[in-house]
Amino acid sequence: MTDETIFGKIIRREIPADIVFEDEHLIAFRDIAPQAPVHVLFVPKTPIPRLDDLTPDQAAVVGRLVIAAADYARREGLAEDGYRVVMNCNDHGGQTVYQIHLHLLAGAPLGRFGV
Ligand code: 5GP
Repeated sequence: MTDETIFGKIIRREIPADIVFEDEHLIAFRDIAPQAPVHVLFVPKTPIPRLDDLTPDQAAVVGRLVIAAADYARREGLAEDGYRVVMNCNDHGGQTVYQIHLHLLAGAPLGRFGV
């Protein structure tokens, strides 16, 4: 269970969030500051601060995030037009919450990324 970040508080229902999916492994909720018409965060319940902390035995943790995001996009009718998934790591990656999470962005054509 994630307990040391704001996402842990969301998992424990200590602060509100617009939760769109949850199972025993992960939770998904709308980003509080959306960067696209659809912006959902997929967060594992296993506490892992950064992608850089991932170990090979945790491959399924990330796999489940990707599968859950793709399932959500399909269910919501976003898959045909397309979407983007992003994971940020550390300062230059733009990470601000130190519990790994996958961003799903969709609902409009997205700009290219870069500096
Ligand atoms: P990062 O920058 O770490 O990749 O992504 C963290 C994301 O969490 C940001 O897009 C930010 O808007 C979002 N966020 C931060 N605090 C909260 C919160 O309290 N509730 C929700 N729903 N999203 C949050």
